[in-house]
Amino acid sequence: MDHTMLIGGERTNGTGGTRLDALNPYTGTAFGTFPDATEADVAAAVHAAATTFAATWSGTPGLERARLLHNLADLLDENAEALGRLESQDTGKLVRETTGQVRFAARNYRFFAGCADKLSGRTIPMDSDALFDYTLREPVGVAALITAWNSPMQLLANKLAPALAAGNCVVIKPSEHASMSTLALIDIVERAGFPPGVINIVTGAATAGSALTADPRLGRISFTGGVATGQAIAAAAARTLVPVTLELGGKSPNIVFDDADLDRAITGAVAGIFAAGGQTCIAGSRLLVQRTVADRVAEAVAERARTIRLGDPLDPETQIGPLANPPHHARVTGMIEAAAGAGARMLAGEGPAEGLFVRPTVFAGVDNSMTIAREEVFGPVLAVIPFDDEDEAVAIANDSEYGLASGLWTRDLARAHRVARRLVAGTVWVNTYRTSAAQAPFGGVRRSGYGRERGVEALDEYLRTKNVMIDLSDDTRDPFAMRT
Ligand code: NAD
Repeated sequence: MDHTMLIGGERTNGTGGTRLDALNPYTGTAFGTFPDATEADVAAAVHAAATTFAATWSGTPGLERARLLHNLADLLDENAEALGRLESQDTGKLVRETTGQVRFAARNYRFFAGCADKLSGRTIPMDSDALFDYTLREPVGVAALITAWNSPMQLLANKLAPALAAGNCVVIKPSEHASMSTLALIDIVERAGFPPGVINIVTGAATAGSALTADPRLGRISFTGGVATGQAIAAAAARTLVPVTLELGGKSPNIVFDDADLDRAITGAVAGIFAAGGQTCIAGSRLLVQRTVADRVAEAVAERARTIRLGDPLDPETQIGPLANPPHHARVTGMIEAAAGAGARMLAGEGPAEGLFVRPTVFAGVDNSMTIAREEVFGPVLAVIPFDDEDEAVAIANDSEYGLASGLWTRDLARAHRVARRLVAGTVWVNTYRTSAAQAPFGGVRRSGYGRERGVEALDEYLRTKNVMIDLSDDTRDPFAMRT
């Protein structure tokens, strides 16, 4: 199917004439096309968003925004299976994961619908009763929302829900590797009743993305993707001084202490790295295990890895689908070969896999200084690193350029709280991994980025504070004196 973009309420192919293919990584075939937006198309989308914001949307009450967000959530729930199927075809991720993510996206829209009519400022006590001071929390205007290929509907909801709840218009650009579900959203946005120009969707690759992030009319750029792209966007935004939210990669530690419920910890380790074929920013790709149980845990995880069923992502029995695209596959397999060459001991993952598949791979005896422990693989590849005590576990966990997520497994309540405080990461999971909630803030530190999504904290990214100070007195003071 040939898809169009959405600019100012019009479905359009844009001005360029170039189209990109949507590739199904499982079948290796194209199953749709979409426009490669030109700079003029992107500028038209920002113009539509800016004029709609100024003309009407900025005056739309929170309760009306909440109603529209609930409509969107209802339609996502109704269409979750179709959208999940489409996204699974586009990304190679399991249909049960993608369908679950569409439902989770709906949950996010509902959470922020509940916030839309509750955005309030503060009344601020002054040193003098003659002054009355309060703050207004105002939308930033136009937000550019750029997403990665691995979880398009979910990543978009993390941005779109708070952006709309806060009262902004948006320009969305999905990844050129997975645009189909976002384009299918055009129908849903129209049926939900959003006025034309509030939600604009442009497609294309880096040219479209960089045209969007260079636009000085934006009030916020929110980006999910790789570190190098995040750096390029931050540099572009430094020229316009548009504030940026960056959700980047990770090399997250999942720490197993020897007092943990080891069966649960082993399942948590498997979920942490092999769910979604490891193609998640929060993948628990470094499994830190206390030396007393390290061999046992590593072998148990490797045993589970060997029995994971690879196959058609649309088949409900499949546990891992193919990687999302050929360059990514080449990169992941290259990193596996390099790790083996550097001396990491491969406990699972031997042997070739067909097409874009990669066998779930477990490396034991990894030192935290090895590349496989330092660089994001974004595939089903686990590095098991032993440690002796709590201090060493924390030191290894924090010895990373990243700081997105982390997990720890223990039955010792005091240790759980103690280690949670010491870990340098945006998220700490205790006795669970990869569990998400619309209400809980999510984001990174260090090279994993800055800013927060989900939770009430996400609203701060899309609002700015205005201070209003009123002098209630008959002030006739010296005009040149300091006024307080
Ligand atoms: P990517 O950085 O290659 O692309 C992300 C998006 O940026 C795409 O839409 C792309 O077209 C666009 N883009 C590319 N160059 C651009 C430029 N110069 N200016 C503006 N936009 C540009 O990332 P990817 O390969 O799609 O995704 C994988 C990465 O995303 C991994 O590193 C992963 O960890 C990260 N990720 C992070 C999170 C999170 O929430 N922290 C979630 C999922 C994925």
